[in-house]
Amino acid sequence: MILDLLLHNAQLVLPDVGVTPGAVGVKDGRIAAILAPDALLPAAETVDCGGLWLMPGLVDPHVHFGYGAPETDFSTEARSAALGGVTSVLSFHRSPDPREALAKERDLALAQSCIDVGFHLGITHRLHVETMVECARRFGITSCKLYLQYKGQAGLSKGFTEIDDGLLYHAMLETLKVPGGVLGVHCENVEVIPVLRDPLRREGRTDLAAWDAQSPDFLEAENVHRVGYFAQKTGCPVNIVHLSSREALEEARRHRRRSRVPMGIETCPHYLSLTREADTGPLAKVNPPLRSQDDVDALWEGVLDGTVTTIGTDHVPRKRETKQEIWSASMGLPGVGTMLPLLIHEGYHRRGVPIERIAALTSSNAARLYGLSSKGQIAVGYDADLVLIDPHLERVVDPAGLESFADYSPFEGMSLKGWPVMTVLRGRTIARNHAIPEQVRTAPSGRYLARG
Ligand SMILES: [Zn+2]
Repeated sequence: MILDLLLHNAQLVLPDVGVTPGAVGVKDGRIAAILAPDALLPAAETVDCGGLWLMPGLVDPHVHFGYGAPETDFSTEARSAALGGVTSVLSFHRSPDPREALAKERDLALAQSCIDVGFHLGITHRLHVETMVECARRFGITSCKLYLQYKGQAGLSKGFTEIDDGLLYHAMLETLKVPGGVLGVHCENVEVIPVLRDPLRREGRTDLAAWDAQSPDFLEAENVHRVGYFAQKTGCPVNIVHLSSREALEEARRHRRRSRVPMGIETCPHYLSLTREADTGPLAKVNPPLRSQDDVDALWEGVLDGTVTTIGTDHVPRKRETKQEIWSASMGLPGVGTMLPLLIHEGYHRRGVPIERIAALTSSNAARLYGLSSKGQIAVGYDADLVLIDPHLERVVDPAGLESFADYSPFEGMSLKGWPVMTVLRGRTIARNHAIPEQVRTAPSGRYLARG
């Protein structure tokens, strides 16, 4: 057999297992052989990894492509992902009737994306719950997300017309009918927020910490409790997306002690690295808000002890001009291009988190949770999605080099140690030395990730 690609002289990072010297042979887009590090089999292309880490390509299970420039996001943001070592994303699809709109968004993604793309369904009204099973069957979408922060009045201006506890409960019952189904929930008790927010605005607060003060940790924890309780009663597997606080993490631990119903916990790189005291100002306005240093520390404890199960970026690529003043600024921040260096810098170097743990939380765990059966492992038969990482390379985050529609990064100016230097999608090199090859730019080859 002549391999298409041989990556030799690498340190293979095997999720949750460890780091071991080795080589990876690729044929027809899949991993065909795991070999001794100095193996030199005949191959069309051979790459000497120089003893660097070779890790499964990252699976980012939480991006919002289409929220920056809807017509081009799958092109720009996929390139940003590729530069960051991310080879698969699950993006949130939101439309009045997904049965009519999904095919169009899928085709747009396929035409533009240089990485593999799948979708979650965003639930904004009853029809989405009623058509969950049909969408799973027709489009291979096994995960939906319900936004408790857009309950009732709070959601009306954003098109969320029927979010209440009844819809949450109903969504759990329907999720149970979807093979491999999991319900994601955004947890913030929005009914309490105005009580806290209005006095802060009257006082004239405009700092980033005010954003946390209007939706503090216990409003997140209260929703986690509610979701866990309903999950226990219905038996529905749930996933708390972008969990941000110690208080909510404790609530998740309590759920796991009293119930066998799975509750996944996702957190984000920004909750693991930034606080409400960050000098980013409104650039880092995000929901749930950035918290305190104690919360950052708690989330890393959760990463180490297994309470946190996945890390997603919640990537929203908007322009700096929309992020000027705390109360009016747009929500969310870009992150898909910086997730890996942030986690290596903050986790591996500063806190001694094993790289194989970071690999599990950014690839294999998400692949397992969301039914991406060919992703997330360096093993024979899996897709040859790989990222080569120089753990000692130091670079300063510069939004100009991130390829994103967003012209800022909440991490801009930070010097981070540990960067991807090559990204491979199903055997094809889609990023090398912090640049996208011209042929990848002109002929992107991402596939649609159908599940179930
Ligand atoms: Zn999100």
